Amino acid sequence: MLVYIVMIVGLVFIGLALRVPFAMRKDYLAKKHWKSLPTADEYMAAIATGNGRGICCIKCGSNQIWEQHLISGQRIHYCRQCKTDLYGTGGERK
Ligand SMILES: [Zn+2]
Repeated sequence: MLVYIVMIVGLVFIGLALRVPFAMRKDYLAKKHWKSLPTADEYMAAIATGNGRGICCIKCGSNQIWEQHLISGQRIHYCRQCKTDLYGTGGERK
């Protein structure tokens, strides 16, 4: 009985361990993408914000800007309507 418990626990740990490189790779790619996005200041300078609705999507004009949090602390702000990634905040850009 104990052997089975040890085997199941072992398989769970192996399963979790196998996911780590994939999660790291996903975050690495997201961070790389984050670096390619403009900062909030650059984005606001690039779009006309004089419509009284504050910051809005450069593509569809929606003001529903949501954010995706990365493991490393950065945030990618995207348009909820057309799913376009707009700008990145948080963390250091190097
Ligand atoms: Zn949009």
